[in-house]
Amino acid sequence: MRTKQLSTFFFLFTLVVLFALPESTSAASYVNNNQVYTYEIMEQDIKELAQAYPDLISYKVIGKSEYGRNIYAVSLGKGTSVVQVNGSHHAREWMTTMVNMNMIDQYANAYKNGSSYHGYNVRSILNNSKIWFVPMVNPDGVTLQQFGLKKFPSSDHAAIKKMNDGSMDFRRWKANAKGIDLNRQYDADWNNICCSPGRPYFKNYPGPRANYAKETITMVDFTNKTKPEMVVSYHSSGEILYWDFHQTGSWYDRDHALAKYIGKTTGYSLVYPKGYQSGGGLTDWFISHYKRPAFTIEISPYVGETSVPLSYFSSIWNENKTIGLYAANEGHKLFLTKYNPVKAAATKKVNDAFLASKSLRPYHTSNLKTTADIKATTSFISLYNKTGSLIKTAEQSLPGLTKSDRDFLSQYIVEAKSRKLDAARFIDAVYVGDQLLEQKGRFASLINQNKIDDNFVVQYNAMSSSINKAEQVMSRIYGSQYRQLTRDKYISPSKIARESVIYEVSRYNLLKIIEKELNNEQLEQIEERFAVLERLEDRSVQIKEAGNKLYPGKYPDHPEIEEQLVTLRDSLIQQYKEIVGIDETVFFQEIEQLYADYESLTTISSDLSILDSIYHAEEQVTFIDESSLDAESKVLYDEAIIKLSELSTFKEVVLLGEEILVLQGEIEAGQSDEQKLALVNEKQQLFVEKISILVNESIKQLLQETYSIQ
Ligand SMILES: [Zn+2]
Repeated sequence: MRTKQLSTFFFLFTLVVLFALPESTSAASYVNNNQVYTYEIMEQDIKELAQAYPDLISYKVIGKSEYGRNIYAVSLGKGTSVVQVNGSHHAREWMTTMVNMNMIDQYANAYKNGSSYHGYNVRSILNNSKIWFVPMVNPDGVTLQQFGLKKFPSSDHAAIKKMNDGSMDFRRWKANAKGIDLNRQYDADWNNICCSPGRPYFKNYPGPRANYAKETITMVDFTNKTKPEMVVSYHSSGEILYWDFHQTGSWYDRDHALAKYIGKTTGYSLVYPKGYQSGGGLTDWFISHYKRPAFTIEISPYVGETSVPLSYFSSIWNENKTIGLYAANEGHKLFLTKYNPVKAAATKKVNDAFLASKSLRPYHTSNLKTTADIKATTSFISLYNKTGSLIKTAEQSLPGLTKSDRDFLSQYIVEAKSRKLDAARFIDAVYVGDQLLEQKGRFASLINQNKIDDNFVVQYNAMSSSINKAEQVMSRIYGSQYRQLTRDKYISPSKIARESVIYEVSRYNLLKIIEKELNNEQLEQIEERFAVLERLEDRSVQIKEAGNKLYPGKYPDHPEIEEQLVTLRDSLIQQYKEIVGIDETVFFQEIEQLYADYESLTTISSDLSILDSIYHAEEQVTFIDESSLDAESKVLYDEAIIKLSELSTFKEVVLLGEEILVLQGEIEAGQSDEQKLALVNEKQQLFVEKISILVNESIKQLLQETYSIQ
């Protein structure tokens, strides 16, 4: 058992030393942590430090102990706001003096080097504020605990020994050398302090009245004189943190927040008193008297009624090394608040608005994983509204400030507004998107009624403009992925619904234009319009095929609508034919005549007028509705098409022949080059190819002779 304990201890000790090494050798050091830290050593260190950093450190004797030892206060820093750190109210807790002294030593060194100290800007903090250390409140007690009676007048030995229950072992001594517990001496519910031994004793005796011991009086006077914003009082042991002494409301919240931070930094547990709280401590008095924060920090794992072993110091220091700077920094903030309450109030309002605006963002960004998350929940809307009113309140708090304060705080309001605007854009998009989906639903049922008319087109156009509007609104959403998700939810299905009838509507619109022009006998563009209509009909089929490949079933055929469009088209074609006098029978006869003319051609030059007739015939054939022909007319139509095609070839051959004649003329006139000769050859070859298609041998011969091509 004993062996195991020893080896465990040795192992822990090794670890501590290993981990402590870089820290303890990294900075110039005046304080030696490897010795029992006495009053005399402290006194020496204080003097050395003040000499080493004359601009930064000063000290004074603020009072005397019951046995005439000096109670030192050491100031570190140049600023106007003040905080206090103290140690060794209790004799056996002298390691807390080491914590105080190391803070002075390390912070001064970091200040001199201009380096940050574990994340704290030491120069800035110590330029703004001053830390008053009282590293050893109870020098008599510490001396008694460390040396026993030998440093005290022999006339008092018996009395002191009696206070120690007759023991000569003073390692458990806690009080001052007069047997008064200094941290039960302050005027904070002093009459109700628990567990008094009723007489001077090595611990727990609160004295005959509050503020009786010289050391306590010294601390109260000094504290009243320096008026620190915050007090940190170091004790041992137990790794716990006292901070609560009857605070309420925002006062409680402020101190609780600071305590939580210290708890987090040190790893020590916050003490939450339930019911009765024993007072009498410096921090109890300070909290209740000044209504400012104060903390009693119990360093070290619990070690019982004795001093903390030196081997613990390095990890204790590591836990507490930034607490002095934290206190100074927070103290400075409290100082500023107090001396400019208008600014502090405005700062709080701006900060509230800013924080609220920041908390809006997840609702329209990181919370959105799928399209189902795209919504404006009631909590989002209410936070949005709250942010709006907080921004308004914050803005109203600015006019009383100086320009620079106003400018500073305005930046945060600007950012809060910008974040609120981002949220507003999302909420708008959801609102517009939900409306769009409703409209899409109504439009889909209209499509299912299978009736295309003017109302259908009106609804279609309304749908289109809603989509455009929604796209505009959604284009302003913060963050491309959330913008895309919102589009996926609202725009895509709406667009599919619209596109499923886009060509039906286009054709309907075009037919309506044709109808109007026919009614007004405006015929200039009619033929062109019918050609466009034909292209739209083809495209209509293609887009449905392509669409269904991408989104199967989303682009259904609408046979009844199709039928309405075809009927309308055919009736318009009929109307046009009647107006321009196209009679199909006459037309077929014309083709017949034309072809007969062609067969009877004897000289090309005498009857090139047939070319004009061919052009005319080609135009008219477009307006014969093949589907409306009866069987007999269909036969005629097919024949006419064959004849027309042969007439077309005839036309091409003649035109080719004319070109060849021109080229040959130029060559004969001496305007000859290789390129031109090649061109003539090429055209002649083409001429021969084309002419072979013609069926009438005598015409072939005639053409060849006319253009001298064999
Ligand atoms: Zn203590």
